Amino acid sequence: MSPVTPARVTGTPGRTRVLVAGGGITGVAAAHRLRERLGPDAEIIVAEQSMRLGGKIRTADFAGRAVETGAESLLAARPEAVDLARAVGLGDAIVHPAALKPALSIGGELVDFPAGHMMGIPGDPADVAAIANAKERPDNGLPILEAGQDMSVGALVRARLGDEVLDRLVAPMLAGVYAGDVDRLSVRAVMPQLAAALERHARLTEAVAEIKRPAPAGKPVFATIDGGLDRLVTATSAAARAEIRLGMTVRELRETPRGWEVITGPVPDPIKVTADAVVLAVPASPAADLLRAVAPEAAAALSGVAYASVALAAFAFDKVDLPERSGFLTPASEGKTVKAATFASKKWPHLGRRRQIVRVSMGRLGEEALLQYDDATLAKTALRELGEHLGQRLPDPVEQRIDRWGGALPQYAPGHVARVAAAREALARHRGLAIAGAAVDGVGIAACVASGRDAADRIADALAPRTV
Ligand SMILES: Cc1cc2nc3c(=O)[nH]c(=O)nc-3n(C[C@H](O)[C@H](O)[C@H](O)COP(=O)(O)OP(=O)(O)OC[C@H]3O[C@@H](n4cnc5c(N)ncnc54)[C@H](O)[C@@H]3O)c2cc1C
Repeated sequence: MSPVTPARVTGTPGRTRVLVAGGGITGVAAAHRLRERLGPDAEIIVAEQSMRLGGKIRTADFAGRAVETGAESLLAARPEAVDLARAVGLGDAIVHPAALKPALSIGGELVDFPAGHMMGIPGDPADVAAIANAKERPDNGLPILEAGQDMSVGALVRARLGDEVLDRLVAPMLAGVYAGDVDRLSVRAVMPQLAAALERHARLTEAVAEIKRPAPAGKPVFATIDGGLDRLVTATSAAARAEIRLGMTVRELRETPRGWEVITGPVPDPIKVTADAVVLAVPASPAADLLRAVAPEAAAALSGVAYASVALAAFAFDKVDLPERSGFLTPASEGKTVKAATFASKKWPHLGRRRQIVRVSMGRLGEEALLQYDDATLAKTALRELGEHLGQRLPDPVEQRIDRWGGALPQYAPGHVARVAAAREALARHRGLAIAGAAVDGVGIAACVASGRDAADRIADALAPRTV
């Protein structure tokens, strides 16, 4: 039998202490909300296994500008991320993209991505006629989904509007967000509003038309932070006045009559942190590992979440002729490695135009092997294909970088929302334990902020008798 190393114990007795595992945007947003709810005396610890906060948010100095090497934009059409930015003092740094249209790259040509759709699904087949033959199949007069029922986006769109709408419009849109397989992505998880409308409509286009409203004039749909999204992470953690412990992997949770024992630190020299409550803001696999002994039902729900990997190439050009567009998406049927590109310096005016910066995204679910290629090979492939999409031979970039995001984008299979609800029901039997983040509540930064805040509220409510 191997000797058991006694754990060192940390913490101040007598103060409410909450440990947040994971220092991505969800974790820091949870810490910030915990501070709001629990007041100045609470001890809030953020334990992050890597040596930096931010998770999938990472800004780098590239071509003299603060350029995103992971997530690049915030959905401003929902309030949580921009509200957080304002709350932590970054209101003046919120910037919006230029009013440029995205394109689809089809058959070696860039064509306008049609308007009037929701994630590529048209509200009127005529809107997408230039790109795809969208003939709505006859319906049986019954709502497409029953209450709580789910199905894959692929099955829904193929059955109602046909393969071309799915392959040319919906799949590229969803690949841009999830790098996923439309036949394995849940309608209820990736388009919750549409799923609700499908409970009222027998026709897919009618459901889309009902919920698809043009963005109000003057209200931009997207935003980012001048100087980089890293600033949002740093400012949020500073405002949370949390104790940030980098390089600290949370390895085990133990429930005790007084709360939680959290085993962290290196295996040979474990550290036991006692806490009244724990928020798990980590990806699905570590969350499932941590929950296995405590709440096996919740662990089982999380362990089924698959992840897709992507690689990003960034190029800076001194002089290059880019179209006046924000970028393009390309259907998998085009047979390219590059699935999307953003003309970053055109899309984001705050980056300036002294150098043209292009971000190229490669990799879909099942293409993990791509990440094994060396930087030079990935950059060469990205540059060659970018030139093919743009119909020109591109000059040598003055700067380039490759970023690999292995196992980065969760794939919500049909039934995900119900499985997460069941996991939360199982967790409710344990006082002061919550799950949050992209693994459960949506990949977008705004959804992660909402999820972190919601977990913090659950914890604060559970601790309320001790904290008032
Ligand atoms: C390339 C790319 C581009 C994207 N673009 C956008 C975009 O433009 N807009 C948008 O809204 N979203 C975008 N996303 C999605 C979005 O960035 C993520 O979904 C979101 O940032 C996830 O936040 P999170 O805090 O839930 O998880 P993460 O960012 O994954 O953070 C989890 C943290 O937990 C840590 N951790 C893991 N295990 C442990 C452990 N055992 N103990 C302690 N710490 C642990 C990890 O190191 C990590 O820092 C993009 C994602 C990628 C990969």
